[in-house]
Amino acid sequence: MKLPAKLFTSYVVLVAASTVALVLATDRALRGRLMREASAEVTRETAYLARAVGTLRGSDLDSLVHQLGRATGHRLTVITRGGVVVADSDFPVDQLPTLENHAARPEFREALAGRTGTDLRRSVSTGRWELKVAMPIEGGAVRVSTPLPQVDAVVADAQNAVLLGGLLALAVGVVLALGFAREVARPLLRLREAAQSIARGERPVIDVRGRDEVGDLSRALSALEENLTRRMGELERERSEMTALVASMVEGVIALDGSGTVTTLNPAARRLLHLAPGGPPPPALELFRQRPAREALERALRGAPAAELQVELEDRTAMLSADPLPGGGAVLVLHDITGLKRLETVRRDFVANVSHELKTPLTVIRGYAETLAGDPLPDAERREFVAKVLANARRMQQLVDDLLDLSRIESGAWSPAPERLALAPLLHDVWSGLAPRAAAAHLVFTARVPADTILFADPQGARQVLVNVLDNSVRYTPDGGSITVTASPAAGGLRIEIADTGIGIPGEHLPRIFERFYRVDPARSRELGGTGLGLSIVKHLVEAHGGRVEAESRLGTGTTIRLFFPEARRA
Ligand code: ADP
Repeated sequence: MKLPAKLFTSYVVLVAASTVALVLATDRALRGRLMREASAEVTRETAYLARAVGTLRGSDLDSLVHQLGRATGHRLTVITRGGVVVADSDFPVDQLPTLENHAARPEFREALAGRTGTDLRRSVSTGRWELKVAMPIEGGAVRVSTPLPQVDAVVADAQNAVLLGGLLALAVGVVLALGFAREVARPLLRLREAAQSIARGERPVIDVRGRDEVGDLSRALSALEENLTRRMGELERERSEMTALVASMVEGVIALDGSGTVTTLNPAARRLLHLAPGGPPPPALELFRQRPAREALERALRGAPAAELQVELEDRTAMLSADPLPGGGAVLVLHDITGLKRLETVRRDFVANVSHELKTPLTVIRGYAETLAGDPLPDAERREFVAKVLANARRMQQLVDDLLDLSRIESGAWSPAPERLALAPLLHDVWSGLAPRAAAAHLVFTARVPADTILFADPQGARQVLVNVLDNSVRYTPDGGSITVTASPAAGGLRIEIADTGIGIPGEHLPRIFERFYRVDPARSRELGGTGLGLSIVKHLVEAHGGRVEAESRLGTGTTIRLFFPEARRA
């Protein structure tokens, strides 16, 4: 049943019940009162009759009884002690013998016992309610009976009035109740609507003006809704922050719920696992093809404590940590360590390379030194051995110098202090150091450098770059070859090309010649006094200036190293 109907029904039931109660109460109260009054009067009348009858008998008694009966309108009866009716205002004297004995009537029984008897009962002859009061007299008893039409009528009238009033109240009440029920129910119904819209996640309309309890309830609901909206807003913001955070993370993040369904898969994780961006996440067990990773995931889903393991993905290596979540599910974090692994390899290779590079000359030095320390040698041999020791010591010196240079540049401890340098004299100066060796190999050197060419670079750095590149050209160019240096302006700087007609570099080696210790032919390089670090130092130096270095080469034809230095930025 709806609220207005409930309110209405209870009102109607209330009014109807009160009306019925009133009718019953009226009957009881009024009838009692009227009866008391009627019986007092009838008792007075009976007392009068008793006194009037006195000792009268026979026709005198009969005429008195009829006379008084007419005067009062009541039935008057006189009986003997034996209960025989001797006079009755309702019957002529000749009919009296037909009347039955009255001694057993309750009121007469009392009167014959010497007391006033009263009885109210339905008359056998008339069928109406009659009040009968009897009193003793000399030799018998008298009785006055009166029907109680007034009592019934008055009570009926009063009841009718009450009933009418009740009906009227009901009619008015029905109208009022309808309005009232609606009035009371309307704000409650509106509240219900508001609560339902909150439940649906919509913004409700809440009227908070009421001053009654419903108004209080509305205000409470409104406050609740505001709190809820604010909390939801905060949660939403936190959630989008978290989503953005997870999305921007370098680490791959995968979250799984209790049933093992993937709920979060950030872009880094997609990249690492080679999953198309934006597509639906795959089932948890299809995330990894690697058995250990799958097992770690299953363990985490079962709630086993956090585990960390290295996983070899298709083209990358990652550390996978799988943590169970407190409420079920798990979170997996993939940390890409490919770069670290590569660095580790580079570091290992580097240590191995350095050790190897140092070991060779050291072994030679030790060998000759031991021989020299033994029996005295012929002069020529001794000189030759000492020269070998010296040459290898120089080589070690060169290697250590190159390594120190490289580490200084790489560590950032050194940074170029560029100046405007005249390139032609610098080149000339550098070449003069190499010229004797070049001349011995009959190499033709050409410098196509305009006299006013300015190089904006660190003097020491620029010198070392030119020395290293030209030294390579001299070393790797066979007798009779040529070396040409060309300087020309390029967009935003200066280009210097060092071209030789040397042995050239095979295509597959070309991309790696700038790596540390990378040599096309290690034995030959060593023989020629190379350390394998020259071009690596060149690359680092040029790049420290903000420049670039490239190599172009054809096997057996020659090599061109192209350097680019940016020009001084005008303040
Ligand atoms: P190295 O001390 O061995 O010369 P670099 O770093 O200077 O070391 O050069 C690396 C490698 O590049 C050399 O070992 C050589 O194989 C190759 N290379 C460099 N310059 C030339 C060149 N001008 N002609 C031919 N090969 C060269």
